[in-house]
Parts: sequence; structure tokens; C-alpha cells
Amino acid sequence: MKEAEKLLDLRRKEMVETLKLYGITNRRVLDAFQDVPRHLFFKGEALDAAYNDGAYPIGFGQTISQPYTVALMTTLLVERCFSGKVLEIGTGSGYQSAILDALGYSVFTVERIFELYQRAEKLFSKCRLNIACRFGDGTLGWVEEAPFDAIMVTAGAPKEPESLLRQLAENGCMIIPIGGKDSQQMTVFRKEGNNCKRELFEHFMFVPLVGREGWDDTVF
Ligand code: SAM
Repeated sequence: MKEAEKLLDLRRKEMVETLKLYGITNRRVLDAFQDVPRHLFFKGEALDAAYNDGAYPIGFGQTISQPYTVALMTTLLVERCFSGKVLEIGTGSGYQSAILDALGYSVFTVERIFELYQRAEKLFSKCRLNIACRFGDGTLGWVEEAPFDAIMVTAGAPKEPESLLRQLAENGCMIIPIGGKDSQQMTVFRKEGNNCKRELFEHFMFVPLVGREGWDDTVF
């Protein structure tokens, strides 16, 4: 292994150790974080900075989420949905999709910024990842592929999009940060017949979910 690759490998191990210190204990999740090279999805000059526990700009006012945030959302999903079809809203860098793919899910992802969609699609193809990627307003879901065993929304929503809840399978779950512009609470919905059970977790600060069933883009 070349020196540069050894350094990145070491930094990735350190990132996983940091996640453990922050309370991420799920073995499947930790293994996926060890397996997926986050630096490939990162747009900084110094590639090893990809393994700091921070959110970083990826262009167009968007970010690759902090590893802890990705790990927590992934844990919430893995603990409720062992396998199956997952829809991610907000492809961004493509890192979260790659983590879900490494966990063995069948991954569908939607991005509303054309350049980010194109960049992620190229990267998935270069890395030979079998991830279905689509350009559009993810608040409306992906009707032709529904129902999904799980849906993960990686942008902050003012409320849960009804279209997404409708596209959940029975007993399926949706993980979504909900709140105002400056702070959102991680929320998990589980579909049980005509009802949806809701669980609440930590607060985060996400970029906005902009779309027909999200924020109006004139607000930002
Ligand atoms: N999952 C991403 C990753 O791993 O890099 C995180 C990306 S960022 C925190 C959130 C993304 O959601 C941005 O790329 C943004 O353009 C996208 N987004 C916001 N509203 C959206 C919508 N209605 N449909 C699809 N994508 C949306």
C-alpha cells in the first residue's frame, strides 16, 4: 500500500474510534464506516481532513454531513430495518448512499441540485456501486419504486412530507430531521396500518429540505 493510502486508512480507523467514543456501538455500522473511503466523497484540498468529525462544503451551498450525524441516522435505520429497499432524500456527496450500500440495502437516492446529482452518479459508476440515483424534488419520493422499507431524509424539513409517509411499506420507518431553519430534531416515524408512531432524538443543524412538501426556496 502506498504511503498516502496508508495515512488515509489510519485516519479512517481513527474516525471509527471517535464514533465509538461518541456512543456509536452497532458493529454493522462501524464496519461500514471502516469500509467506505469517505475521502472519495470529499471536496477538500487535504484528503485526510475527510476523516475529521466535521461537515464540509461540497459546493452549491450544500455539505457532506458530519460522520457522527451519518452514523447516528444509519444506526437508527439499521436497528429498525435489517434489509431491503431504502430511499435516501438528499444525495449530496453520495457518502450516505455508499454507507447504506455497504450495509447491503438496495439504495435509491434523489438530489434536487443537478450538478450534485451528476457528480454523485459519476462517482457511483466509477466505484461500481449499484445505487439508483435520480434528479428531482425528493419531497415527492420515488413513486415508481415504492414501497420502501426505510426512507432517510438528509436535509432539514419543516414537517414530515406526506408523500414520503405514503411510500413507506407496512412497518417501514422514516428517519428525518424536523424543525425550524436553525435547529431540527431527529425524528423516526414507523408506519403501523393507518397510523404512524413517532420517536424523537437529538437536535442537529441541517441544510434545508427545499421542495413542494419541504421549505419554499424563497425563504433561503
Ligand atoms: N446525504 C448527503 C451526503 O452524504 O453527502 C448529505 C447532503 S446535504 C446535508 C443535503 C442534501 O439535500 C443537499 O445536497 C441538498 O441539495 C439536498 N436536498 C435538499 N432538498 C432536497 C429535495 N427536495 N430533494 C432532493 N434533495 C434535496
